[in-house]
Amino acid sequence: ALSHHENWQRQWRNPTPKKQYDVIIVGGGGHGLATAYYLAKEHGIKNVAVIEKGWLGGGNTARNTTIVRSNYLWDEAAALYEHSMKLWEGLSQDLNYNVMFSQRGVLNLGHTLQDMRDIQRRVNANRLNGIDSEVLDAKGVQELVPIMDCSKNARYPVMGASWQPRAGVARHDAVAWGFARGADAHGVDILQQTEVTGFKIRDGQVYGVHTNRGDIEAKTVGCVAAGNSGVLARMAGIKLPLESHPLQALVSEPLKPVLDTVVMSNHVHGYISQSDKGDLVIGAGIDGYNGYGQRGSYPTVEHTLQAIVEMFPIFSRVRMNRQWGGIVDTCPDACPILSKTRVKGLYFNCGWGTGGFKATPGSAHVFAASLAKGEMHPIAAPFSIDRFNTGALVDEHGAAGVAH
Ligand code: FAD
Repeated sequence: ALSHHENWQRQWRNPTPKKQYDVIIVGGGGHGLATAYYLAKEHGIKNVAVIEKGWLGGGNTARNTTIVRSNYLWDEAAALYEHSMKLWEGLSQDLNYNVMFSQRGVLNLGHTLQDMRDIQRRVNANRLNGIDSEVLDAKGVQELVPIMDCSKNARYPVMGASWQPRAGVARHDAVAWGFARGADAHGVDILQQTEVTGFKIRDGQVYGVHTNRGDIEAKTVGCVAAGNSGVLARMAGIKLPLESHPLQALVSEPLKPVLDTVVMSNHVHGYISQSDKGDLVIGAGIDGYNGYGQRGSYPTVEHTLQAIVEMFPIFSRVRMNRQWGGIVDTCPDACPILSKTRVKGLYFNCGWGTGGFKATPGSAHVFAASLAKGEMHPIAAPFSIDRFNTGALVDEHGAAGVAH
């Protein structure tokens, strides 16, 4: 069958940049591509360019551990992530592209009494927001994951967990490709190998971008550049409250199916699931230093694997296949920025840090509506940059899953 694969159609065009568009999206990761898709599909704005300096999904979109859940503590964050979850539930059908969304459930483990109190509080808050969430004791966790060490002999014994059954994982590059194909089919120009090097701003209004392929004009520019958002903002004279850090992940050699859910532990600090190929997909905490190199340091990997082996002694002799890093843009309150700026027409969607993959459809859906209407969508509004002046922060460090 492979020999008959030569006449496959390209999934999206490789157009020459036009001089002018209605909207420019900077960043061809999942969020940027999805924003363009919803702009075209839901708002009829099709004269759109997605400008990507590398290749589609080459940023964090295809470097992440693909955990999707919506069990956040505060109403504002819960509304955003649950909006996304509902879109995930119909995404493969909407895009006619299999994003392999697998609702296999996510466990957030508790190892201390305080962990369990926090879990109880978060689960209560989730249920008040209509989000599926349960508290499990150690026995309940053991029943779900028989291969985990839930004995009292562990250094930090598992006392219980929060459990979101609708949560799960998806196929990261399929998400980028599915949105890219969908956007392209609506007429969006996807410009790869095109780097934004500056903004054209006159009288406080953006009217385009400088790129390595020439200037391109648009009166609405949405920046969705994850770890490079601070760099882009500086080009417009804006300082964002972001720090860029490496975040690492690694995958093992493929194994037969042994783990059919997702396990996260903030306390011993590691998270793990098994991909459909059989690899164990393992995530770490952020590396402590700031940087833009997509790798990371060895001690972080070592610490993570210690945590994984502590929880799963059965994996102690599994060999690791690959390791990599992405650059995550962390915000002081572990929540994103979806916001206008003081430059008219220039918007930022960033600060997703270690947890933005799960938000891809939801973030893009409300960001597209905001760009189309010139007013932030009600679900996006609490995530304005202004919150760092007013103090109306949405502190999601507890629910964020990865310490930073
Ligand atoms: P990206 O995919 O990074 O896209 C931004 C794009 O902008 C890049 O392709 C970049 O090349 C482009 N760009 C930057 N500067 C310019 C420029 N000047 N001109 C043109 N293009 C530019 N989230 C979860 O929800 N669940 C997880 O399990 C999870 N695990 C993670 C594990 C790791 C190791 C990492 C690194 C991240 C993880 N995340 C997770 C976070 C998640 O990956 C990100 O929040 C999300 O993918 C961000 O998507 P994006 O589209 O905004 O960014």
